[in-house]
Amino acid sequence: MTISEQAVERRQDYDGSSPFPGAEEHAPAGWAQVALTAAIVVLPFVALGVAIFLGWGRGVALTDLLLAAGLYVVTGLGVTIGFHRLLTHASFTARPWLRVTLAVAGSMGFQGNVIDWVAVHRRHHAFTDRPGDPHSPYRYGTGLRGQLRGLAHAHLGWLFADDPTPAARYAPDLLADPAMTRVARAFPALCALSLALPFLAGWAITGTLYGGLTAFLWAGLIRVALLQHVTWSVNSLCHVIGTRPFRTRRHDRATNLWPLALLSFGESWHNGHHSEPSCARHGLDRGQLDPSAGLIGLFERLGWASDVHWPDHERVQRRRHAVMTVSATRQAPAYAKRAGHEADPRRA
Ligand SMILES: [Zn+2]
Ligand SMILES: [Zn+2]
Repeated sequence: MTISEQAVERRQDYDGSSPFPGAEEHAPAGWAQVALTAAIVVLPFVALGVAIFLGWGRGVALTDLLLAAGLYVVTGLGVTIGFHRLLTHASFTARPWLRVTLAVAGSMGFQGNVIDWVAVHRRHHAFTDRPGDPHSPYRYGTGLRGQLRGLAHAHLGWLFADDPTPAARYAPDLLADPAMTRVARAFPALCALSLALPFLAGWAITGTLYGGLTAFLWAGLIRVALLQHVTWSVNSLCHVIGTRPFRTRRHDRATNLWPLALLSFGESWHNGHHSEPSCARHGLDRGQLDPSAGLIGLFERLGWASDVHWPDHERVQRRRHAVMTVSATRQAPAYAKRAGHEADPRRA
């Protein structure tokens, strides 16, 4: 039996509650990756401390907050509509200029280059909450300690692990797309631009270097930190707490978590998403706020998006089961336990 056959065998043995085989054997990444990741993750938080120190007693300038909100929306929608719904799941087709614009906006969110992001996320769908998932909160089992450790791993810890996801296997379509490889190569420059823009805007608006610095802190670093933690909360919290109204694949415990709906632009309707991954709308039920889907609808009306996969009402009803609030340790319902299968990762 080859190593990959053994790995598949171990995945099929997974019972849904034990730690993943080899969970403890995980090697940390090389020092260069650890240092870079630490800088990307820790610096925005240091900035928050500095900003609070500087702004203490005098409040925050409205300019800084408006710039922060504007850049949060642009980069956040770049991740949710561009990286996620368009490029990972092909839930619609975008005009080439829109596709590149969304990929550029998402790259400015400091979440890795577009090709790696897509590859990791497709792998997450192919192995959701079972061995092979790059960021499952169930990695260390469903006991209390294991669950807490798993949440930390799913939120942030996985970024520091040496667990590469081969883009050639999970994102060959993007590797073959010259526009996307160019955007991926420009990732460091786009990160720099993401911080330089608020600095220059703050400087220009206030006419002082100090105004540029506070805009850099709030609309640059702190805005980056907030978007990162909201995105990572979808990986961690939205697989543990919330409701599971729709059937998903075996072991897949994605949940709907309404408090994060607005900040995540609709991505926290994660149970709906895992149930119908290639659907352009994640909030499948009436009243579920999904700004990303709203904007895709606008793109469609403007003729910029086509072939949009909107929810099929009948199909959605067939995937529904009784609404329940789930605890951290609840197993997937027995009738959801179908035989595991590897779907096409692009449509997974
Ligand atoms: Zn997920
Ligand atoms: Zn997805």
